[in-house]
Amino acid sequence: MATDCLFCGITAGTVPSAQVFSDDQVIAFRDIAPRAPTHILLIPREHIASAAALTEDHGPLLGHLFAVAAQVARDEGIADSGYRLVSNVGRWGGQTVDHLHWHLLGGRPFTWPPG
Ligand code: 5GP
Ligand code: ZN
Repeated sequence: MATDCLFCGITAGTVPSAQVFSDDQVIAFRDIAPRAPTHILLIPREHIASAAALTEDHGPLLGHLFAVAAQVARDEGIADSGYRLVSNVGRWGGQTVDHLHWHLLGGRPFTWPPG
């Protein structure tokens, strides 16, 4: 845990969040500034700065996180229509919180490439 990290505060429960899933490895909660009708953030409990810091050893954690993402998408009713699952990395990638997270966005169509 990084004491100055907002999302570590969410995993610790010191920062409130609207959680839709939680277990010993992963938490999913609603984004505070949603960019789509469904906008959920999935994070590992472990503090990892971004996808750039991942190693081979994180394989099981990532497999679990993606399985949770697919289940949350089904639970939210966006699986059939499709959705966007994206992780921003670094300044030009649009990352503003330095704790690894995926955005699960759905409920409207998305364009490609992103802006
Ligand atoms: P990033 O810009 O790093 O890819 O994504 C960070 C996301 O965290 C943004 O979509 C932003 O709205 C969301 N966010 C920032 N602060 C909070 C917060 O305190 N609570 C929640 N639920 N989401 C937050
Ligand atoms: Zn953190």
